[in-house]
Amino acid sequence: MEYQFKTAEEVINLCKKHKISISELAKRYESERSGKSTANVRERMKRTRDVMYEAIQKGIKSNERSKMGMVGGDAKKIYKHINSTSKIMGNKVTLRAMAYATAVGEQNACMRRIVAFPTAGGSGVVPGVLFSCSEHFKAGKRKLLKGMFCASAVGLIIAEGATLSAAKGGCQAEVGAAVAMSAAGLTEMRGGTPEQCFHAAAIALKSYLGLACDPLGGLVEVPCIKRNAIGCMAAIGASDMVICGVTSFIPFDEVVQAMNNIAEIMSPKLRETALGGLAVTKTGNMIKRKLGLKVTTEL
Ligand code: SF4
Repeated sequence: MEYQFKTAEEVINLCKKHKISISELAKRYESERSGKSTANVRERMKRTRDVMYEAIQKGIKSNERSKMGMVGGDAKKIYKHINSTSKIMGNKVTLRAMAYATAVGEQNACMRRIVAFPTAGGSGVVPGVLFSCSEHFKAGKRKLLKGMFCASAVGLIIAEGATLSAAKGGCQAEVGAAVAMSAAGLTEMRGGTPEQCFHAAAIALKSYLGLACDPLGGLVEVPCIKRNAIGCMAAIGASDMVICGVTSFIPFDEVVQAMNNIAEIMSPKLRETALGGLAVTKTGNMIKRKLGLKVTTEL
């Protein structure tokens, strides 16, 4: 197997050896693993991109609220401001990324179709960052696909070295992973080298280590959707830092090891059980009671 990898170090070496980008390597990896042609792999990624686009477009126009009424309509509120940013401290790209990430999260909460990239809970960051930045660059759909393939390689390394499961690693494994994937994908879209992509991913993931999974009522709504929106700013910031010449002191593979270590010592109460953190606040317990769930702790 010529293109298989499990670590960032292996990715960097393979990219050097074949003189290719991370996105090209990820495509060849999947082609080799699945036995399908690279054209077929690319087609599948295009379909993924189209589903992401559909969720964004529906989400930014929607006022629909989730069944529990906790979320809905915020993507539209944010998106309305992207052309009148005088009141806003961030810029158009970050605001639009947050609108898109929120749109995907709200579509998920309303049981519409989204792409779990890498998971349903962390599904907003990658489309938020990559679609918004792609619009800014006036980049074609091709460049967007490059970002997605690069992001998928980073997700694979996290899955191999740690986890993408909140039940195992908390929210660092969902939103944290998505932020790292987006930071790398965006950096490749900007012409960054494989090393720079992993510096961006490392800077991003380090900032999310230890993040609890503590959703209200166990539903992927609060704090999940806003965490995705804020995650977009972290991903864009990490990529910007790298473009400015900043590097991560700790290599990405070591950050993934640290993530795995934290997952191992994290309390089960903070791993998708809704038994700790925000899930046991007064508001969290109000939602539990509405859902007929047992309240065990109240802060
Ligand atoms: S809080 Fe838990 S359910 Fe919500 S996005 Fe994070 S990991 Fe997923």
